Amino acid sequence: MNRLSHVHVVGAGLAGLAAATALAARGLRVTVYEAGPAAGGRARSYLDRELGVVIDNGNHLLLSGNRAAMAYLARIGARDPLVGPKQPIFPFVELPSGRRWTVAPNTGRIPWWVLVPSRRVPGARLSEYLALRRLIHARPGDTVAALLAAGELARRLLEPLAIAALNTMPEGADATLLGAVVAQTLAAGGAACRPLVAREGLSESFVHPARDFLVSHRGELRTGARLTSLETASGRVTALRFAGGDIALAPDEAVVLAVPAAVAPTLLPGIIAPDAFEAIVNLHYRVTAQLPGDAGFIGIIGGTAEWLFARPHALSVTISAANRVVDRDAEYLARTVWSEIAAAAGLSAAMPAWRVVKERRATFAATAAQNARRPGPRTLLANLVLAGDWTATGLPATIEGAIRSGDRAAAFLLDPDAAPQTGPNPA
Ligand SMILES: Cc1cc2nc3c(=O)[nH]c(=O)nc-3n(C[C@H](O)[C@H](O)[C@H](O)COP(=O)(O)OP(=O)(O)OC[C@H]3O[C@@H](n4cnc5c(N)ncnc54)[C@H](O)[C@@H]3O)c2cc1C
Repeated sequence: MNRLSHVHVVGAGLAGLAAATALAARGLRVTVYEAGPAAGGRARSYLDRELGVVIDNGNHLLLSGNRAAMAYLARIGARDPLVGPKQPIFPFVELPSGRRWTVAPNTGRIPWWVLVPSRRVPGARLSEYLALRRLIHARPGDTVAALLAAGELARRLLEPLAIAALNTMPEGADATLLGAVVAQTLAAGGAACRPLVAREGLSESFVHPARDFLVSHRGELRTGARLTSLETASGRVTALRFAGGDIALAPDEAVVLAVPAAVAPTLLPGIIAPDAFEAIVNLHYRVTAQLPGDAGFIGIIGGTAEWLFARPHALSVTISAANRVVDRDAEYLARTVWSEIAAAAGLSAAMPAWRVVKERRATFAATAAQNARRPGPRTLLANLVLAGDWTATGLPATIEGAIRSGDRAAAFLLDPDAAPQTGPNPA
């Protein structure tokens, strides 16, 4: 497959865009097909007509140690796409007590910050930090809850970070996935832990520059193009079926299937993919305000809301692992969370205009059982590879994982022998 003339990428989320831009950068002709009206998938911005402002479907936090994401942004030429504090700082507020603190890892690899009271988690014993080492060496079947020692470090830092990174409650969450995140970030030193968010919005940073990059590299992005089935013969994809007609594939053409986990089995019957999901609920309030702590966000302990972000035109809140709240009435959620925000941010104003965005299948549930259902890029069809945050990246479902999966799919098509083979499950 290494003399490809044309690659068809199905799905314009970040996995598909990463694969498409990596292939286009190597001179291949690429066409991307996206079912929705715009690219970006689960990481996109849009104009909320009622609020009258552009919002992200959900707040997305990255860390400076997310190497695949940083390389992707450099590749697509995104200009100054991310914003965050210059130092790795994580301000928190505990709602019941009103106590505030900032976790501030030092930038080097030797973690002397855990010895400095003003940089560490209040009330945490030094021995509790050994949980980080246990996580990095977690074995399949270990849950996050089992490896966190009960104490203030878990309650005031590691559990909120785990819920944000894995979108799954610690009791059921696979510790190997959190260990992989810790190894890339906290254990790599504070320089890998700077918190970053899209400067204006996800689409402006991650999606529009990728679209422009594709167009300037002989590529094409077709929106409103939903793949309905694959035609196959002799172990290869021979045509892509869309409502608007078929696209026949020549022998030197290939496909990257970068659709979500719930869609892939409908197109590739028999494939084993994650089939249990967790919601994320985001609440956006049309008010601009500075947050205490100078990071642009605050972690909230002891509330319904978990992370509060100051965005250019709104205060936005994330509730992860949200199957527990997703069916609650939107107005009830908005009022409950606003009272928490007012306390966290020191605001006394009445609740401004709001929007609740419920993503019911935000990510696969990061349990050991679901992790075991993640396939590698290779399939039984010689000219079709998989990409997506749900494939076996070794990471939870994140931007970093999605981009890594797209890069890997591209590498596999460019050189099947050199590309890493992961995942138990060739479809
Ligand atoms: C609310 C929310 C908050 C999040 N917060 C964070 C965070 O803070 N940090 C972080 O790193 N990650 C976060 N994530 C996870 C991150 O958004 C995802 O891991 C990533 O965007 C997934 O990208 P993907 O390309 O794998 O999948 P998707 O984005 O789902 O892309 C798949 C694309 O395929 C398209 N498609 C589906 N069916 C078809 C078809 N038949 N034909 C053509 N196209 C099709 C879809 O429309 C979609 O555009 C969050 C996710 C959500 C939902």
